[in-house]
Amino acid sequence: MGITLTGFRRIPLGTWPTLLQEAPRLSEMIGRRVLIKRDDVGELGLAGNKVRKLEFLLGDAAETGADTVITLGALQSNHARLTAAAAARLGLRCELVLYRSVPRSGAAYEESGNMLLDRLFGAVVHTRATRAEAESFAEELAEKRRAAGRNALVIPVGGSNGLGSLGYVAAAAEIEAQLRERRIEQARIIAPLGSCGTAAGLVVGGSQLPWSFDFPCVRAAAEPSRTDLSQMISQTADVLGIEAPSMEKVQVTDRTLGAGYGQPTEGVWQALRTIAGREGVVLDPVYTGKAAHHLLTATEFEPDVPIVFVHTGGASGLFGYAPEATRSLAPNE
Ligand SMILES: *Cc1c(COP(=O)(O)O)cnc(C)c1O
Repeated sequence: MGITLTGFRRIPLGTWPTLLQEAPRLSEMIGRRVLIKRDDVGELGLAGNKVRKLEFLLGDAAETGADTVITLGALQSNHARLTAAAAARLGLRCELVLYRSVPRSGAAYEESGNMLLDRLFGAVVHTRATRAEAESFAEELAEKRRAAGRNALVIPVGGSNGLGSLGYVAAAAEIEAQLRERRIEQARIIAPLGSCGTAAGLVVGGSQLPWSFDFPCVRAAAEPSRTDLSQMISQTADVLGIEAPSMEKVQVTDRTLGAGYGQPTEGVWQALRTIAGREGVVLDPVYTGKAAHHLLTATEFEPDVPIVFVHTGGASGLFGYAPEATRSLAPNE
């Protein structure tokens, strides 16, 4: 492995490597060997993919002496929840600016799931109608806190920038070592594509390996998402001072996106039911459910190449969807 991350300060927030788990009943169903990378499991705040990014982002915050972290996300943001949890653990003040961009309302969506956990971790929660309003409010808030003598850091949506993506450069090395133990060389990596930091890190970290990548979009259509991913890859490579790898082995698809971010489709509920029913593993309706819907229904996978499905977490957000989940998951007669 060519990429070293030792020059970057990293605050340990997880235990690595996470499990790479065989999924025999799922593999049997789709006729391909599937391994699940359990990045949903960990000791911090019900865990998920944002932990890896926060290790680097908060490492940098420690370097600059930040005492307050401000971040943004949709109401049921997993990133916001994990930032609040990490801040609690590190003794930092945390303020969240959450936006109501998803067409969902009601007690479950507004008060349960990640919203409940944000409060549990002691974050100050502000809400705004749109992402644009939240972004300008977060900057104002940071200025206000600085004027009051605090050292405030604003972390971008999803913790996605070149530095945050290093968490997934590290994850790629982890996966490579775990596959090597099993004598697997070639692999197809599947992970949901949101704010692109996860995918960018995996592509940069895995670019020298015989891997291909499949990124089902959960936030926007394939074309703008592919452009966003390509920019995030460049940012990540810049931080490392290396050349950006090509996107040749990267597929970005929006075939399971549905109506948009945070809006689960019938296929998503079915995917949740399938993975839970076959492996006892809980997916989420916003990210991993859409990625799993793709995994379960795509037809173009090479027959002999094992699939690594990156479980990025998010199950705590499932409870925010309780009424519609219950309706969709009701057992068939
Ligand atoms: C944020 C998130 C993603 C998407 O990761 P990005 O780096 O934003 O693309 C996937 N799954 C879960 C559960 C997430 O919370």
